[in-house]
Amino acid sequence: MPELPRLTTTVESPELLALRQEVRDFIDRKVAQGDFVPAVNSWLVGWDTDFSRELAERGWLGMTIPVEYGGRGATFLERFVVMEELLAAGAPVAAHWISDRQIGPSLLKFGTEEQKRRLLPGVAAGTVFFGIGMSEPDSGSDLASVRTTATKVDGGWRVNGSKIWTSGAHAAHYFIALVRSEPLDTAHRHAGLSQLIIALDADGVDIRPIVSMDGDHHFNEIFLDDVFVPDEMLLGTAGQGWEQVTSELGYERSGPERFLSTLPLLEALGRDQDLGGVSSATYGAFAARILGLHEMSLSIADGLATGRPVDDVAAMVKVLGTTTEGDIAEAAGLASTAPVGTELYGQVAAALLDRPGFSLRGGTNEILRGVIAREMGLR
Ligand SMILES: Cc1cc2nc3c(=O)[nH]c(=O)nc-3n(C[C@H](O)[C@H](O)[C@H](O)COP(=O)(O)OP(=O)(O)OC[C@H]3O[C@@H](n4cnc5c(N)ncnc54)[C@H](O)[C@@H]3O)c2cc1C
Repeated sequence: MPELPRLTTTVESPELLALRQEVRDFIDRKVAQGDFVPAVNSWLVGWDTDFSRELAERGWLGMTIPVEYGGRGATFLERFVVMEELLAAGAPVAAHWISDRQIGPSLLKFGTEEQKRRLLPGVAAGTVFFGIGMSEPDSGSDLASVRTTATKVDGGWRVNGSKIWTSGAHAAHYFIALVRSEPLDTAHRHAGLSQLIIALDADGVDIRPIVSMDGDHHFNEIFLDDVFVPDEMLLGTAGQGWEQVTSELGYERSGPERFLSTLPLLEALGRDQDLGGVSSATYGAFAARILGLHEMSLSIADGLATGRPVDDVAAMVKVLGTTTEGDIAEAAGLASTAPVGTELYGQVAAALLDRPGFSLRGGTNEILRGVIAREMGLR
């Protein structure tokens, strides 16, 4: 079986190609040293703070954060190249993933000068990790229905309610919670929401694990009981939470993590033909789909850099990409004869068990098809 075509394009400059090669060489060394085993879904389950810090030391975290806030002042395309290589290799990037992907950009866009100076250097150094506090037990797709409340008090806010499915909260330092800060006005459901940066070790924060069906613990439920959040931890403008959250979605939905979660498995199947690897035709068809998604995602990285609206293409990348990830899992499940206990068996099992999450996280594919239809003027 030939190697998968390299993730590269004609639009990549010699500098970007050199950066890709540098990351590849680094990864090859790390795998050869046994520092990590390539894993499926590594951006959710591969929590390794030492690895995050090592990336930071190389300037591969907080890449688009300006130098004055501890970042590298690099371009979105440079970040894209580095992230793509790390994901394609199944490297353990979960600890910093959320902070690096969307909290950094959000803080830069909406944060106060004090918040930027206080939090961004840690994000770029791989020492401060964040979770996302959007979903609630009765609020997922219909996010405007969140019921966690923030009540204004002297010097800050009192927060009460609960969040669910908060990836990595048990090991992160903060999460950004979407809360209702004004009473619900049913005629304007998206109004009156705010984003608060909540320290996960604050009094009144109770984090309880939710163990997935593969036995892994990355999800949590968070109970907030009269948690005091000082004024300086309000992100952006009170009441503008909906506009702020939706402006993050281009970052959240369009990146290479939406089509590369199972690439390490596809590569393993290509290598281990004697363990029931997929046919050349299937392998080639998946490679073509991934390369197409790579081009779409790359164009969004360019759009994010230039301020071009990307929400519709981002939704398309997420629907097509997560479908591809799931199809690879299914093809692997059907083809593989790897014995229990082997590395390949573990990867196939992980891909199949994690598969339902691929299309749910970051907004379900049903909801995203609605977004695409709206953008196309069909609804
Ligand atoms: C792996 C993973 C990681 C996650 N990490 C986080 C996290 O860190 N932080 C966080 O806040 N959340 C997180 N989530 C939660 C995720 O955002 C929600 O699961 C998702 O938004 C869907 O919400 P729900 O689970 O409440 O499903 P629901 O909204 O109840 O939807 C149930 C089903 O109904 C369908 N549906 C709902 N409304 C419509 C509609 N209008 N039209 C058509 N179909 C519809 C949905 O597509 C879905 O199939 C994570 C989820 C997963 C799977």
